[in-house]
Amino acid sequence: MTSLEPTIFSRIVAREIPATIVAETDNVIAFQDIAPQAPLHVVVTTKTQEYANVVELAAGDPALLAEMVAVASQVAEELAPEGKTPGQFRLIFNTGAESGQTVFHVHAHVLAGTFKEGSLV
Ligand code: ADP
Repeated sequence: MTSLEPTIFSRIVAREIPATIVAETDNVIAFQDIAPQAPLHVVVTTKTQEYANVVELAAGDPALLAEMVAVASQVAEELAPEGKTPGQFRLIFNTGAESGQTVFHVHAHVLAGTFKEGSLV
């Protein structure tokens, strides 16, 4: 669903809000999370805010989802934390408010450098 108000991520895309941008394609942008939860914590999002979450994106534009995954992989290759293997990362799509999603503009969290053995959370 398209919302009329620009989301915070659309404002980053428009350079209205500062962010440390680490990768960008025609359709996707990646920037450092403002409140990092791991040594590498980058948000990858679509330039369009047409899709609120990954389920809508997968149904509406699977090629764009694939582009997000490719950008996430590239970021994890290029910005691996010291001592960690480039290209190994967690990719988290919070989907719905009860999952912790606060920005309803599809985005993935790329996390690397911390991993609690045996735990997903
Ligand atoms: P949550 O806030 O619970 O992690 P989301 O999955 O919706 O929920 O993630 C939004 C993410 O966007 C958060 O990790 C938050 O720190 C990040 N964020 C919000 N505003 C900015 C900003 N201006 N620049 C960079 N990251 C931001």
